[in-house]
Amino acid sequence: MWMKYTNVTNAHPGWLAALEADDYDGPDVSAERIISVTRLISPVQMVTLQRIHANELTMDVSEAAFMVMGTAVHAMLEKAAQAGGLTGIVERRYQARSASWYVTGKIDHFDPATGILTDYKTCGAFAVMKPKKEEWEAQLNVLAWLMRRNGHTVNKVQVSAFIRDHMKSKVGKEKGYPANPIPTIDIPLWDGTRVSQFIVDRLHDFEAAWYEGVIGSCSKEETWSGRRCKDWCAVARFCPQNA
Ligand code: SF4
Repeated sequence: MWMKYTNVTNAHPGWLAALEADDYDGPDVSAERIISVTRLISPVQMVTLQRIHANELTMDVSEAAFMVMGTAVHAMLEKAAQAGGLTGIVERRYQARSASWYVTGKIDHFDPATGILTDYKTCGAFAVMKPKKEEWEAQLNVLAWLMRRNGHTVNKVQVSAFIRDHMKSKVGKEKGYPANPIPTIDIPLWDGTRVSQFIVDRLHDFEAAWYEGVIGSCSKEETWSGRRCKDWCAVARFCPQNA
């Protein structure tokens, strides 16, 4: 666990315990030349500041509680697979090498019969209403690359979303509002050349930031037009761009 949680709002201790019980099995942000898919697709500056300030990062349980819901969805999925109700490959970590780096990521569900790779996401309605979801597209395609590098054939990638703030009263009244709280969203599948080049380019940027001190800055898209800096970036207080 790279984040230290506080409980300044005096929330019920169950929330803190749930966050601290996180069973993340990927590489630590301070590991050398191994990177998770989540970090690979995240802003280089943000991940690099997480690495530099790994021992100083704190988040209050009141701000992090929503993450418990995402963890709960994954736990239910694993339980369903163990009970035999969901077939295929569930919650499995894959790793592959690109130049001198390793990339590692955990898939949520893969159906070997159809070649469909599904990622489960808990999100707000706005996340599925945006016309572009670049980070989802990159994440799913790097996961597909990992699966291919481990002998699987991936024909399709998709997101199965759980809209935590879905309101039936908005259906049909707001343009693009999801018709139900658990929509399946098709994600464009990149060809092998495109995803390999994407990974090489990202690793080049991380190599420069981590080992040569060339960190760069976040683009407007990466900052979500400033919303990420304001409410969603754990390293905002260390960020020169946010000063
Ligand atoms: S505060 Fe904003 S600009 Fe700085 S690392 Fe975070 S997302 Fe990027």
